[in-house]
Amino acid sequence: MNSNDSSTSLIMIFGATGDLAKRKLYPSLYHLYKKGKLADHFAVIGTARRPWSHEEFRENIKDSIHSFVGADEQIDDFSSHFYYQPHDVTDSDSYIQLKTLAEELDTKYSLQGNRIFYLAMAPEFFGTIADHLKADGLTDTTGFKRLVIEKPFGHDLESAEQLNAQIRQSFPEEEIYRIDHYLGKAMVQNIEVIRFANAFFEPLWNNRYISNIQITSSEKLGVEERARYYETSGALRDMVQNHMLQMLALLAMEPPIRLTTDEIRSEKVKVFRALRPIEGNEVNEYFVRGQYGPGTIDKNEVVGYRDEMNVDPDSQTETFVAGKLMIDNFRWAGGVPFYIRTGKRMTTKSTKIVIQFKDIPMNLYNNNEQLQPNLLVIHIQPDEGITLHLNAKKSGQNMQTNPVKLNFSNEGSNGINTPEAYEKLLYDCLHGDATNFTHWDEVALSWKFVDKISEVWEQTNSEIPKYASGTMGPEEAEKLIENDGFFWWNLNDLDVENCD
Ligand code: NAP
Repeated sequence: MNSNDSSTSLIMIFGATGDLAKRKLYPSLYHLYKKGKLADHFAVIGTARRPWSHEEFRENIKDSIHSFVGADEQIDDFSSHFYYQPHDVTDSDSYIQLKTLAEELDTKYSLQGNRIFYLAMAPEFFGTIADHLKADGLTDTTGFKRLVIEKPFGHDLESAEQLNAQIRQSFPEEEIYRIDHYLGKAMVQNIEVIRFANAFFEPLWNNRYISNIQITSSEKLGVEERARYYETSGALRDMVQNHMLQMLALLAMEPPIRLTTDEIRSEKVKVFRALRPIEGNEVNEYFVRGQYGPGTIDKNEVVGYRDEMNVDPDSQTETFVAGKLMIDNFRWAGGVPFYIRTGKRMTTKSTKIVIQFKDIPMNLYNNNEQLQPNLLVIHIQPDEGITLHLNAKKSGQNMQTNPVKLNFSNEGSNGINTPEAYEKLLYDCLHGDATNFTHWDEVALSWKFVDKISEVWEQTNSEIPKYASGTMGPEEAEKLIENDGFFWWNLNDLDVENCD
């Protein structure tokens, strides 16, 4: 095994019997192990209330690898590093047992006191666990300590501040790794490279040459089993406050002076500070919400949101959000709208960013209907790649133009799928690289922006706009962009496989 870039650590997973651990964390750790990026000096303690033994836990790890990776090479060696401690996170006594097991494993695997605490649990427990980890001595080691926290980080600015203050009693900011798994996606990480490593994009990346930017993240799935959580969240808190605003920050930020965690985060924070605040009666001018009704997805009839299990039959929760954001800084002032759109039960499952360039100053081919604006499309998921839409001359004698698409597919170039976001983020955390995790300042500013919108929506008496399942959202979302003279690009037309 090549262990040059492997790392030594005890990884303690709280919520080890849960869905996230099973579907994402164990497969990601297995991939890292297979690639030699987890040294033989690693151990995992899984904790949850279920009274499993080490052996039962290891069998569950193996099942997860079979189901989600479809492999079993080195599976016995891999799973032998996993230990289980039944533990109720609200019970002080069980932290003492956890500490004893951690110390035993530290010695057995020579872990140098390095510890990662991964909170794959409901957010209401984040603060309690952080308190106990410190108070019961689990952070008293000579090695590094890192606390990984899943979303959601708070419900609004006030609750996020309270949670942050509580966690900061036990962990300094530089030891806190707030997960936004979009930041682990290959093509989200590519936004910076596309912008800052190509001579021909950066000079055009401003209000003089870009007319608008559209970020869409659409799902075909409905609320599934997440209704209890989703009813308290909605699309604004679940998607916009974190993933959508993070993508926007990467698209809008200035080049950092160096590619260090602090410099990149500082540029993203400046974008959040420059977001034009949307107050009171402006909200409906800039933001649109919607809720899916019944409809057809892949030729199957599906029920509306209010008929889903555990959803209030009068629910006003939004399953769709579209918005127009303006950034008041030197680069973007003067009117480059950033449109965002996200929702459930839409026509297609897709996350794409479309950068639409301004029309050329004089169209010499204006009798030609084919002339299209130049687009740069960044395909985030499920397809990964970049497409550049240009105009070229049609073959033949006349001067007719033809739209052409230059396409780079990430998958095609490697011949394999790029690693899962969680694999990258776990690797970064093991190596102390917090660049692709969100700093508190980013979290606070994005809540501040989003809170203004949710406050207005929560106070409104009007019925939430509906859209049929299998469509791209309510009519109001079309109007939002049409009022500015633009339209949403059709995501299916932009798919990599539909490129020339
Ligand atoms: P889940 O399936 O409900 O798992 C929750 C875990 O917490 C279980 O292992 C449960 O095990 C344990 N638990 C509950 N109460 C406990 C207590 N008092 N003491 C100790 N353990 C307790 O939840 P999940 O879907 O894995 O989500 C976990 C976190 O990840 C959440 O913050 C969620 O928002 C976030 N997240 C999940 C996903 C995903 O794909 N699932 C994606 C993004 C973010 P026992 O019942 O055995 O105690």
